[in-house]
Amino acid sequence: MSKPHEVVIVGSGIAGLSAAVYTARADLEPLVLEGPEPGGQLTLTTDVENYLGFPDGVGGMELIQHGKEQAKRFGATFEHGTVEAASVEGEPMELQLSNGESLRTHALIVATGASARWVGAANEDDLMGYGLSTCATCDGAFHRGDDVLVIGGGDSAMEEALFLAKFADSVTIVHRRDELRASDIMARRAREHEKIGFRWNAELLAIHGSEETGVTGATLVSHPDGHPREKLDDNAGERAAAGDPVDPAADVDVDRVDVGGIFYGVGHVPNTAFLADTPISLDEDGYIETTGGMTTETGVPGVFAAGDVMDPNYRQAITAAGTGSMAALDTEAWLESRAAAETDRQVATAEADD
Ligand code: NAP
Repeated sequence: MSKPHEVVIVGSGIAGLSAAVYTARADLEPLVLEGPEPGGQLTLTTDVENYLGFPDGVGGMELIQHGKEQAKRFGATFEHGTVEAASVEGEPMELQLSNGESLRTHALIVATGASARWVGAANEDDLMGYGLSTCATCDGAFHRGDDVLVIGGGDSAMEEALFLAKFADSVTIVHRRDELRASDIMARRAREHEKIGFRWNAELLAIHGSEETGVTGATLVSHPDGHPREKLDDNAGERAAAGDPVDPAADVDVDRVDVGGIFYGVGHVPNTAFLADTPISLDEDGYIETTGGMTTETGVPGVFAAGDVMDPNYRQAITAAGTGSMAALDTEAWLESRAAAETDRQVATAEADD
């Protein structure tokens, strides 16, 4: 069996890369596992305007590529691999990968980030990738001349809409309330854009189209009080998808719109499913709970967390990079204290033998 790693970093977004730079500079020879979305969310972003040190902004992909080169320069290695299960109570810990292999490590930094949330509209499983997308920067250029919808009311939705407006004829932001969650600056840019309009108090119930035609339309529901889907039963979407009446008794407006593309911008869910059977504490939304205050400790010795997977509040590139460096420093201190404890133990044993 091969020797355990000193530290494995799961995730190669900006938090994982920052942890890699710091642990590599500390000669811990980190292994970074690049999961199903190498480089993380920033690779799906165009310009990052609020990362300190770039007065003219910096491309998300560029920031990630530079971070990876920087980590490699100090000795970090990168491998593709998705962790399916972890056994973190033993020494060393063991990670089971989706390709059937396993890895052993003394310390673990979880930086698996968060993935795009889906809204639960009928047909979304079938049409994702066929005109339905969670990434405007990836798929926007396919929608030149289309009318498109963006679902959501936060900064992601505004950013998607502004990017799509470069290609599409019209962009309609569909938001379930009548007040945006987005920052003032992003909301103002979207409101002032001549191609961008809003559907307030509205939700996407069903998506129409096929793999052959792509997305051709959407059924939207609306109600003056917002959150219209809460007023419908669970099968309303299936009925809308089949062209049947949605729910004549329900007090919602239903209409079908012709669109060539739909983009989800409704936030993210933390990637922590592989930790379900471990003692690592998760909050009700699945975010890793650290032990409190300024720390990345998870409460399980040797396991640290960084980036969006442990941060339901800030979720910024710069805060993710910051917690990545904190996790690396916490890991280094933990490995040192463990080595010191082992030395003390050996000295005590030798003295007892004398
Ligand atoms: P977010 O702030 O959590 O916003 C998610 C939006 O989607 C909310 O408006 C929410 O509605 C809506 N939503 C959630 N679930 C929904 C569902 N099932 N159906 C319909 N609508 C749903 O997430 P985010 O926009 O991804 O932003 C996350 C963080 O990243 C924020 O801190 C943001 O500032 C930052 N960010 C910054 C930039 C930038 O500055 N350029 C770009 C992207 C993200 P409610 O409002 O009703 O809850």
